[in-house]
Amino acid sequence: MILRLLLSFLFISSVNAAVTEEGFFVYDSTGESLKILNQHKEISIDHRTRTGFEAYGPKGLGKYLELLNLDHDVLAEMHEDNKNLGDYPTPEEIEKQLKDLVKGNESFVKMFSIGESHEGRKLWALKFSDNVEVDEVEPEVKFIANMHGNEIVGRELMVRLVDELITKYKNNDFSIQDLINNSEVYIIPSMNPDGAAAKRRGNARWSDLNRDFPDFTTNDNTNEIKGREPETKAIMLFQAQRKFSLSANFHGGSVVVNYPWDTHADDAPLTELIVDLSKEYASYNEPMRNSTRFQDGVVNGYRWYHVDGGMQDWSYYWYNDLQVTIELSDHKWPNYSEIPQFYEENKESLIRYLSRVHQGAGFNFPKNPNAKGKVEIKRLKSINNDKEMLLGTYPFSGGEFYKVLPLGKYQYKITLSDGSEHSINALVDFDTTNSNGNYQAL
Ligand SMILES: [Zn+2]
Repeated sequence: MILRLLLSFLFISSVNAAVTEEGFFVYDSTGESLKILNQHKEISIDHRTRTGFEAYGPKGLGKYLELLNLDHDVLAEMHEDNKNLGDYPTPEEIEKQLKDLVKGNESFVKMFSIGESHEGRKLWALKFSDNVEVDEVEPEVKFIANMHGNEIVGRELMVRLVDELITKYKNNDFSIQDLINNSEVYIIPSMNPDGAAAKRRGNARWSDLNRDFPDFTTNDNTNEIKGREPETKAIMLFQAQRKFSLSANFHGGSVVVNYPWDTHADDAPLTELIVDLSKEYASYNEPMRNSTRFQDGVVNGYRWYHVDGGMQDWSYYWYNDLQVTIELSDHKWPNYSEIPQFYEENKESLIRYLSRVHQGAGFNFPKNPNAKGKVEIKRLKSINNDKEMLLGTYPFSGGEFYKVLPLGKYQYKITLSDGSEHSINALVDFDTTNSNGNYQAL
């Protein structure tokens, strides 16, 4: 025990977020090594398998593993000679690709920066919607990819998705028109362009961005940007300005949909819905659906491996923005020639997931755009669901509220900050061909 305590001082103890300067595969079929390493907040655990897991940490992690006699190998991705970018575009080339795609289509897609990386690269976002310059009363959905810089497939899929949405919208594809005309779709292809440029998991400061968000189970449990990485801050500020109710976050290193919580063993609210959304994604992706490791191609985050400070839990806990983490490829940086195949395997799932944002109900106050208060949501007895159930009470502001929900009938009891009360009943009936009835004007 004393030895273990001493060894822990090998690490820089002042770090807040997990650092990713060294990375190893730790062989561990019993979970014993995982237990030891989980005690260090400066170590990131990732991609657990039957034989072990990935561990990232500050300089000295390898020495620490040796001293503890934990069987390990340096991850191939950490090798110096692995820094060749191959045929992949640079972040600057991705920016140009996106700008070229948007050009001429500014009536329904716009590109803007939500902030800058540590090295000053712009964090680009795309918004798709009719009346794209107006913040309409519509459900909002978002995709974020490449927060781990060396997990590159998601970034490439996002660029291809942008292309497909533009092409299909212009060709009057019915479901894409419905999606873009009746919701606001946001896509952030690369949250960590510095990491992508360096082919590295962490950002330019070696921080693991998917361990850098506020966490409701640790002492870092206030939703504040102070002390976080610039890329994390940018996402946090962007989220605070919008009203997302559904999102996904793309990674690599496995093939599975990982759903919340990551940080806690309890079921997340509306787990049934979350599992349904996750399974639908996996069901349209052949390798995911046929996974031999994960039943139906999905897994609960915490049961797979415990993560504190992840983005999906932060999003769902603080904003009711239901987010899952989608692992797209066993190889984090596959040969560039494989990307079209990955896109083919994922495109149906991606578009269906975005469309699910219409499975919900909301309200707005057209004459009082500053209305704020809280809404208590109760599931009513219906054919699909014979139990009445209180889902919870949710804050809202900016004169509108929307929530993705399981199919069923609901009662919303709205209390404004001035004390006035409203009540509405809503039917959530999944029918993407009729997406206009989601909001009730009050
Ligand atoms: Zn990742």
